[in-house]
Amino acid sequence: MDETYWRQTRVTARWIRRRPFDIMADTSPARASPSDEGEAISSICVTCGTQFPPSLEPPAYCPICADDRQYIHPERGQQWTTLPRLRETHRNRFDPVEPGVTRIVTEPRFGIGQQAYLIETPEGNILWDLVALIDEPTIAEIRGRGGIAAIAISHAHYYTTMVEWSRALGDVPILLHEANREWVMRPDPAVRFWSGDSISPVPGVTILRTGGHFPGAIVLHWDNHNDGHDGAGVLFSGDIIKVVADPAWVTFMYSYPNQIPLDAATVRRMADLVAPYLFARIHDAFDGHVRENGSAAVQRSAARYVRHIEGRAGPTI
Ligand SMILES: [Zn+2]
Ligand SMILES: [Zn+2]
Repeated sequence: MDETYWRQTRVTARWIRRRPFDIMADTSPARASPSDEGEAISSICVTCGTQFPPSLEPPAYCPICADDRQYIHPERGQQWTTLPRLRETHRNRFDPVEPGVTRIVTEPRFGIGQQAYLIETPEGNILWDLVALIDEPTIAEIRGRGGIAAIAISHAHYYTTMVEWSRALGDVPILLHEANREWVMRPDPAVRFWSGDSISPVPGVTILRTGGHFPGAIVLHWDNHNDGHDGAGVLFSGDIIKVVADPAWVTFMYSYPNQIPLDAATVRRMADLVAPYLFARIHDAFDGHVRENGSAAVQRSAARYVRHIEGRAGPTI
């Protein structure tokens, strides 16, 4: 753990009262919590980056981390920070990925190491997935590229500070699938729940509800044919469809940190749903990239996964 991170978590620990593993408490009265002054604060879970509604005290625990798909940090327990504190210690970096696609990464790493993608199309820009840190330089950079038409987020582990992002960028809609309603920790009118299998926020962009990792898990297909690019198609897959060590393959898991697989029927459905949408490249949530034949990689990988999960992959005992 680097020094910056350690100091940050220690500072935030002093105003947490109900954390289960109190290993970094600092109860000095001279360093009272902001909430002691009666100011409501939006707490951010240090382990996963999820922001909660303003309150005088942080929540008892983070339901996103307490879920089977995540974890409460084994040494630090439940800890909280705030956006102002995060801005003191972290910065966002913009990395070009391919024409029209820029990755936003927070340094040093925060939460689960989330990354966002800014997708620039002639019909409007889309922000896909989010990082917890939003600050003035980030807003200025995005506004300088024409702002965004909508935010779409693959699943709850990337909802982070979505309400702050929407407000900072002109109250843009946050497109979440309704099947994930219970995983929204900070409800807000900017969150627009949609139903069914797909929506198209701007021409050329289709968001598909695959389910899998979460019931309301979504992926985003960009048909860049008319956008002055190569027209090969791009899939932004979050960790709903995750690129593995060999970038000709992907996988489909219920939980990555706890390595819990999905069932065969769900994986088949996911592969069938994306099959009509052709794409050469896949950009996942953790800097995993399939560079060519992405559509084939998904179908091949789904078939391999199902063979294993159904016990048809040959003797393993
Ligand atoms: Zn959490
Ligand atoms: Zn996840």
